[in-house]
Amino acid sequence: MNGAIETMVERQIAARGVRDEQVLRAFHAVPRQMFVSEEMTEFAYEDSPLPIGEEQTISQPFIVALMTEALGLEGGERVLEVGTGSGYAAAILAEIAGEVVTIERFESLAETARLRLAEAGYDNVTVIAGDGTKGHAARAPYDAIVVAAGGPDVPQSLRRQLKVGGRLVIPVGGAMDVQRLKRITRTGEDGYEEEDLGGVRFVPLVGSEGWDPSPGPPQ
Ligand code: SAM
Repeated sequence: MNGAIETMVERQIAARGVRDEQVLRAFHAVPRQMFVSEEMTEFAYEDSPLPIGEEQTISQPFIVALMTEALGLEGGERVLEVGTGSGYAAAILAEIAGEVVTIERFESLAETARLRLAEAGYDNVTVIAGDGTKGHAARAPYDAIVVAAGGPDVPQSLRRQLKVGGRLVIPVGGAMDVQRLKRITRTGEDGYEEEDLGGVRFVPLVGSEGWDPSPGPPQ
C-alpha cells in the first residue's frame, strides 16, 4: 500500500477520532494524487485543501472523512453529493455507497472529475454539471446527501429529496467562509432533526437556494 496514504489515514484521520472502518478503508483505497493537477501531486497527501481551478479547492482529507462518517453509511446506499470539485470525495463515497450522484456548478471541473473518476474505475458515480442546491430529483430520494460548500441556509429541495431516516450533512452560516457543520436527519414526512457538528470553513454554495453569485454573499 502507498505509504503516504497510510500516514495520511493514521495521522490526519484516525488520530483525530474518525473510527468508522468503512470510511478508513475507503481512504486507504482512493489515491488522492489522481484527483489533483500534476503541479499539486507532491502536496497530494498534505493536511490541507489544495487549489483545483475556478478558485475552488479539493477539501482537507480530514474534513472529507468527518463528513463521510457523519453520513452514517453502511454500504449500498444511494448518495447525492453537491460540489464535486475534484471528484475525490465522490470516489470516497463510491467506495462505500451503491450509487453516487454528484453535482458541480463549473462545467470544467465536472468534466475533469468525470474523466478522473472513470480513469480510477468508478462506474457507480454520475457527475452532473449544474446547480446542486436544487438537488437531482430524477434519482431522489437519497439515503444521504452531503454538501461540500457553505450556504446561508439548508436548501429546501435537498431536505425534500432525503428518504425518511436519511441524513443531510451541510455547512451553514451567515458569512461567506465561516460555517457550522449541520446534520439534518429526516424523521418523518414533515419531521427533521438538526445537530451541530462544529465549526468549518468552506467555499460558498452558489445557486438558487444558496448564495446569489451577484452581487455576492455578505463578507
Ligand atoms: N468535494 C470536492 C472534492 O472532493 O474535491 C471539494 C468541493 S469544493 C470545497 C466545493 C465545490 O462546490 C466547488 O467545486 C464549487 O464549484 C462547488 N459548488 C458551489 N456551489 C455549488 C452549487 N450550487 N452546485 C454545485 N456545486 C457547487
